[in-house]
Amino acid sequence: MVEAMPPAIRHLIVVLGDQLDRQSAAFDGFDAAQDLVWMAEVAEESTQVWSTQPRIAMFLAAMRHFAEALRAQGLPLHYRRLDDVANRGTLAAELAESLAALRPARVVLVQPGEWRVREALRQVVAEAGVALNECEDRHFLCTPAAFARHAQGRPELLMETFYRAMRRRHGVLMDGDQPAGGAWNFDADNRSAFGRDGPGFLPEPPAFAPDAITQDVIALVRSRFGEHPGRLDRFAWPLTRAQALAALDAFIADRLEFFGHWQDAMWGGQPWLYHAQLSAALNLKLLDPREVIARAEQAFRDGRVPIASAEGFIRQILGWREYVRGVYWLQMPGYLDLNALDAHAPLPAWYWTGETDLECLRDTITQTLDLSYAHHIQRLMVTGLYALLLGVEPRQVHAWYLAVYVDAVEWVELPNTLGMSQYADGGLLGSKPYVASGQYIARMSDHCRHCRYRPEERTGARACPFTTLYWDFLLRHAERFADHPRMQAQVRNAARLPQAERRAIAEAAAAIRARV
Ligand code: FAD
Ligand code: SF4
Repeated sequence: MVEAMPPAIRHLIVVLGDQLDRQSAAFDGFDAAQDLVWMAEVAEESTQVWSTQPRIAMFLAAMRHFAEALRAQGLPLHYRRLDDVANRGTLAAELAESLAALRPARVVLVQPGEWRVREALRQVVAEAGVALNECEDRHFLCTPAAFARHAQGRPELLMETFYRAMRRRHGVLMDGDQPAGGAWNFDADNRSAFGRDGPGFLPEPPAFAPDAITQDVIALVRSRFGEHPGRLDRFAWPLTRAQALAALDAFIADRLEFFGHWQDAMWGGQPWLYHAQLSAALNLKLLDPREVIARAEQAFRDGRVPIASAEGFIRQILGWREYVRGVYWLQMPGYLDLNALDAHAPLPAWYWTGETDLECLRDTITQTLDLSYAHHIQRLMVTGLYALLLGVEPRQVHAWYLAVYVDAVEWVELPNTLGMSQYADGGLLGSKPYVASGQYIARMSDHCRHCRYRPEERTGARACPFTTLYWDFLLRHAERFADHPRMQAQVRNAARLPQAERRAIAEAAAAIRARV
């Protein structure tokens, strides 16, 4: 539907579902007398992977709130709703139709966060014979071109090298030319577990009750995508800039202090712990990473949070988040097809239901489907680790991660999944595969206490499948990692096992795979 259309359109400003930023370059020089904003809800973005209902609701509800804000500011807007009978189902088809009807002199678009979408939109605009102005995404602190310059000539990419350069370039947590707190990295302080008694009192994170717009979206998602996984009865994500700022305030005040210490810890039935829950607000561009980083640094400078928490949190945003985006644009489109470990097993069907007797996976997947959220270690060292050890085809793992989380956008999801968690890029993003036995999960959580399996057992009726598959992984890939400086010791340990034990591990691992 076109609302208050200018007579002849100079610029058609295309705003995608993860570009909800009034300060973006697409709005530079906006003139309501000549320009028109264009937004479209399309089914393809919810079905090209089997998106969870909360993920679909997150994008649609945030888009509708952003459209409301634009209307309130008097900006002319073309907004196609998903339930419009004339909706053509894909961004490309919708835009093609609008270009034919509206004949703008130019399409203005911030660089999309997904290769597939960028290519589709470029093609549509070219076919319509309309000029295209694809603007830099100013939300990020490092452009793809600057990252390519950083990568050029380096035999290997290291996040830590990139992160230190970003700290220097942007003057973050710096005292002159030295890192604040006397060290660049406090990672060693960020690996504590809760111990037998668990986390104890946890601050309640803010919840944003669905308003009328969001309730409409929830009803639409239930009727249109009711067979998709996930639940909507606990949907309480921040959907507007004001709500995102409130969520940021609450995190800085209540949870950042302990973020660093418990960053890697897990506890059954406790999804949030001391995590920020800000990734979706950041990825939809409701928050600017600069303001998030500045607030964390200020809390440290004011003596309200320790350096290990401020640095640990800032490293995720100024370091990892920018780094994975750099790798994505440097490597696409070929990155999607990488499969360095030659993994071809199917993803277990219970990744879509949580119905498994492996307690850590049951807890993480159930939480994921209920809330569309899991924190980093749950993603990396539970669901990701199991898929890696099982040898699941990386593209299937990627499709699952892109579907299930409210914060999932390909530029950030793909490198985390395919590179960091599955080692499918052969060590381009992270120097070694994140492999561990069930003993790691036993140390970092309470899951094993409630599980029928035993994390210390490699074979036998009660052997933990993670542990069996971990030793099997080392034996299967012994040759590949024999000279790897950070894997050598693990591989040698496996090679030292008696032959009968090695055979028993291989048979037990084959039986686990056969059950899948
Ligand atoms: P916190 O733990 O509180 O961290 C603070 C912020 O740091 C996050 O909000 C996020 O913006 C940023 N951050 C932390 N780790 C990373 C990282 N590795 N890469 C990029 N940014 C990071 N993050 C996404 O935003 N979208 C995804 O689709 C996504 N998929 C992932 C898939 C796998 C297999 C793995 C291992 C990680 C993935 N991550 C993804 C990274 C990370 O798990 C989430 O950003 C984080 O769990 C979000 O929760 P939070 O906001 O509470 O984060
Ligand atoms: Fe997970 Fe193994 Fe622990 Fe069970 S014993 S919770 S499967 S790590």
